[in-house]
Amino acid sequence: MLNLYLEKTDAKYLAGRNKMSTLYGGIEAGGTKFICAVGTCPDDLIAQKRVSTTTPEETITQVIDFFQQQPRLSAVGIGSFGPIDLNPVSSTYGYITTTPKTGWSFIDLVGPIRRALDIPVAFDTDVNAAAFGEHRWGGAQGLDNFIYLTIGTGIGGGGMVNGKLMHGMVHPEMGHMIIPHDKQTDPYAGHCPYHGDCFEGLACGPALEQRWGQPGENLPTDHPAWLLEGRYLALAISNLICTLSPQRIVVGGGIMEQTQLFPIIRQDITRLLNGYVRSEEIQEHIENYIVPPKLNRQAGILGALALAIESAG
Ligand code: ZN
Repeated sequence: MLNLYLEKTDAKYLAGRNKMSTLYGGIEAGGTKFICAVGTCPDDLIAQKRVSTTTPEETITQVIDFFQQQPRLSAVGIGSFGPIDLNPVSSTYGYITTTPKTGWSFIDLVGPIRRALDIPVAFDTDVNAAAFGEHRWGGAQGLDNFIYLTIGTGIGGGGMVNGKLMHGMVHPEMGHMIIPHDKQTDPYAGHCPYHGDCFEGLACGPALEQRWGQPGENLPTDHPAWLLEGRYLALAISNLICTLSPQRIVVGGGIMEQTQLFPIIRQDITRLLNGYVRSEEIQEHIENYIVPPKLNRQAGILGALALAIESAG
C-alpha cells in the first residue's frame, strides 16, 4: 500500500483527490525516525515521508515542511515516544517530558505543529496510537478491552478499557512493570536506566543483545535466548491478563518478528495462569488471543492517522 502513493503524488492527482474527500495527517514520532503520512485509510495513503530524529528543531521543521507541501488537511494525529504529557490543562501538554533521549527532554511537540499548520492536532503515546490503528483497521476491531504491546528498542503498552484508550494519571508504562528475575539462571543486571531489571530492562532488544553478546536477529531460532525472552514476556502478559482482563493482546515490535516467540509465550502463559483464569480465549483459542499486529509495521503510522480522523469527529 505504501507504493501506491508514489504513483499518485502528481499535482493533478492531488488537486482532484483534495476535492473528493477530507484528508488527514499522521505522525509516528519515534526515537530514531519520524514517519509522516497523509491519507484517509490503509488503502489510501497519498504521501509519506521518513524524517530522521536528530535535534528537535531540525526534525520538527522537516515534519512541518512535509505537511505544508500537502493539500489542506482536516487534522493531524501524533503517536509519540515518551513519556509525554497528555493532560490538556497542564502547562506542558503536548510535550515529550522525562525522556533519556539527548536533547528531547521537555520538548514541545504539539505546539509548533499546531501553530504552523493551524489545524487540530491529536496527541497520544506511540503504543496507544498503534492500538487505535489495530482497533480501527487491524486485529482489535470490535473489541472494547484489549492491550497493544511493542517489544523493540524499548517496551511499551497501551490499549483500550471499555472502548476508550487508556490514559489515567499519566499514561500506562507497562514496559516498566517489575517481574520476577531469577538471578541464578539469568545473572544479567538489566538495561533500564531507572530500574535495572524491570520488564523492559530484562526483555528489550538492547538487553537481549547485551546478555547474549549479539543482536537478536543474529541468534538462531532455537537459541536458549528465545525461551528466556518468551518467559519474561509471558510473565508480564500474565500480570496484564490478571489486572486488566483484556479480550486480546496484540504484540508487535522488532523483537516479535522472531515469530518462534509466539508459541513459547502462549505455552508459558497457559502454564503460569494454571487454569485459574477461565475463558475460552485462553483455554481453547490462545493462538487468537496473543497475536501479532494485523497492520504489521504500519500500526503506528495508521494509528496516528486514525487519531486525526477521530479528533476531526
Ligand atoms: Zn524500567
